[in-house]
Amino acid sequence: MEIAIIGCGASGMAAAVSAVRNGADPHHITIYEAFDRPGRKLLATGNGRCNLGNEFLDESCFYLSDEAGLIFLSSLLRSFTVSDLTAFFESLDIITESKKGYLYPRSMQAASVLNSLMTEINESGIRICINTPVTGISKDKAGFILRSGDQNFSADKVIVSTGLGSGGFAIPGFEASGLFSCIEDLSFKKLLPALCGLKVSEDISSVAGVRARGGVSLYSGNEFLGSDEGEIQFTKDCISGIPVFQVSRQASVYLDQSRSVTASVDLCPEISEEDLKLLLTDRIRRHPGRKIYEIFNGVINEKLLKFVYLKAGISGRDKVLDIPEEKKNTFIETLKNLRFEIIGTEKSEKAQTMRGGIELININEDCELKRAPGLYVTGELLDIDGKCGGYNLWLAWATGIAAGRSVAK
Ligand SMILES: Cc1cc2nc3c(=O)[nH]c(=O)nc-3n(C[C@H](O)[C@H](O)[C@H](O)COP(=O)(O)OP(=O)(O)OC[C@H]3O[C@@H](n4cnc5c(N)ncnc54)[C@H](O)[C@@H]3O)c2cc1C
Repeated sequence: MEIAIIGCGASGMAAAVSAVRNGADPHHITIYEAFDRPGRKLLATGNGRCNLGNEFLDESCFYLSDEAGLIFLSSLLRSFTVSDLTAFFESLDIITESKKGYLYPRSMQAASVLNSLMTEINESGIRICINTPVTGISKDKAGFILRSGDQNFSADKVIVSTGLGSGGFAIPGFEASGLFSCIEDLSFKKLLPALCGLKVSEDISSVAGVRARGGVSLYSGNEFLGSDEGEIQFTKDCISGIPVFQVSRQASVYLDQSRSVTASVDLCPEISEEDLKLLLTDRIRRHPGRKIYEIFNGVINEKLLKFVYLKAGISGRDKVLDIPEEKKNTFIETLKNLRFEIIGTEKSEKAQTMRGGIELININEDCELKRAPGLYVTGELLDIDGKCGGYNLWLAWATGIAAGRSVAK
């Protein structure tokens, strides 16, 4: 039996390892990889450290489109628990280490994860065809035919692990949905960037490069869409960083429906508005001749502070004692609720993952397409995306391992 795996990324490699460990003959497994080397995206994960999973793992860590998705996800969570994940990496000689629940290889190098997977794959004798982008799959009596340029490859079972090209790892002109044209009525949810920065309407170039601790809450009109806290990063036209990533998916969906989205940034989430007002009053009493940036020095990043007091109509030349009460209140309110109109998300090239893909209603618990037995889909290609924190890689490992186990049967 010939097994083909399309894509040598996280889920494709996990599928290959799993297939062999479950009894498939490695000499009849071929991985087709579009680029000249495997695992390029894996190397970029977790800033090169690979946040490969998370100790906290349940349904709430993922976004799904429908109930059918929940049945699939619950089954996947039962079949690949946190202990299964750490045991899988232990079996690859990787010790996992928890940083506040986020799991990394102890080496803190994504390269060690890639090396371990590739060592096992290479040692087993699995064939890897690099520079071989698969652009079409068709069915024939015996199984499947894969097309790559003018070459055809046949396989009895195929695992499609191509991802969706997020993070700038796309193959120009290639759309994963095109691979499935041989399957009638396969539902594919529209792709939108997730885990990405959000574009703001105003010019924020004066704070570009600043990283500051804060909270982000998203709204559409009065509707609350989500919030998170952590290090926010500012670019010339975007707010970014993990807390923004965590709420970006909701923004993506609402903006796609042409609905308004506003972000409220709290630059002092751990200090109440009341306490900030008391702090300001106390400092004005002690240093009446100083300027606003002098008495708030050490509380807020200098560039952000200037951005906020200018927004509140305060000049850097004003002595704090002379600032009208109303402007002082606006200043504190702006620190707690710096509003940005969100006009878009960063492009998929900057996103860590995509929302959308093959709807889960199309697959069984082994990631096999119900309409095309023998054809499997894993990882990012599925219409399920995880929060930031190791969940998307967990999904890649879990689905790859499930598909690999099943093709070996
Ligand atoms: C910068 C960045 C950082 C990230 N950090 C984390 C993190 O720390 N933790 C986490 O959980 N998630 C992280 N993610 C998300 C995570 O990397 C993905 O969810 C995961 O890699 C998806 O795995 P996959 O196997 O489905 O797809 P991929 O890893 O994208 O692998 C797909 C493979 O298929 C190949 N391919 C594509 N099309 C074809 C074709 N037609 N023919 C042949 N080969 C093809 C690609 O070249 C690639 O090698 C990050 C993403 C980015 C962009």
